[in-house]
Amino acid sequence: MIDKLKNDQLCLSVEVFPPKKEGHLEGVIRALKGIGEVNPDFVSVTYGASGAGGDKTADVASVAIDAFGMKVLAHVTAVNLTKQKLESMVETYRRKNVKNLLILRGDLVPESKFFDFRYASELALYIKKNYPEFTLFGACYPEGHPEAESLEKDIEFMRHKEDCGIEAFITQLFFDNSCFYDFIDKVRQKNITSPISAGIMPITSQSQTSRIVSMCGTHMPPTFAKMVANNVDNLYDAGIDYAVTQIDDLINNGQKNIHLYSMNKADIAKRVFEKFEHKRKL
Ligand code: FAD
Repeated sequence: MIDKLKNDQLCLSVEVFPPKKEGHLEGVIRALKGIGEVNPDFVSVTYGASGAGGDKTADVASVAIDAFGMKVLAHVTAVNLTKQKLESMVETYRRKNVKNLLILRGDLVPESKFFDFRYASELALYIKKNYPEFTLFGACYPEGHPEAESLEKDIEFMRHKEDCGIEAFITQLFFDNSCFYDFIDKVRQKNITSPISAGIMPITSQSQTSRIVSMCGTHMPPTFAKMVANNVDNLYDAGIDYAVTQIDDLINNGQKNIHLYSMNKADIAKRVFEKFEHKRKL
């Protein structure tokens, strides 16, 4: 995976999430089956907010590998995590042949607690030292993390993540490519050299728009706001077209690593990927 991210070929990956309840894997298995048809370079599997993921991430990772032959990036979060729990998680991932981990602090809820790890970088450093066989990814934020004092400060912590063993990054979703280009310039000036995948989410409903914007504080450029306003009754096609245009622009500007937040909708992944199939073969 890391080699594909570092070479000059297009690397298209997809995020999926496990079901809320233990078991109940049918929905995500259906999604993986559909997503598998467009051959993503890897799928990432999220972990529940505030460390409440249980074994579901590992279960989904296992299906993706064994049933669909996919490469998998499993998300691991620091919140509520102890060294003991991490040890058993690592054992599971070794057994299931997962070799790539996305190391995060995790989304917080009011009851969230920190035990052995406070920041993603602390967790990355510990894993790198104790379980060096894993390749570690991290998150980054083109518009700055919402809790960060400033984008510059956030980029300093991103640099620190690299020092702690993170070898590749995936960005928070964004709708304005110019924010992403400015971010990349700043990050490279700080000598952060790891590959960075641009996180793109096709917005396919009005409710999704307001939820995402309030959750991530993502800037809505005028073209995006206009697209949403002009398609009040049905955003599906327009939202996918917007994401395709965004990705096309990214590729034309030399960005070749794209991570699609598909919300477990295989149809969305298929419609986006088919537009770039010819470029993947180059
Ligand atoms: P960190 O890198 O630890 O940063 C958190 C905050 O602390 C930032 O404001 C940063 O500037 C600051 N900071 C960092 N290091 C230090 C330090 N040493 N001292 C002081 N301040 C510091 N959440 C989930 O719960 N499950 C998931 O599966 C999941 N997947 C995600 C995937 C991607 C690609 C992204 C972008 C986010 C994902 N999230 C997920 C959300 C993520 O957990 C939240 O955005 C969380 O608030 C921050 O995580 P982080 O790893 O970026 O944190």
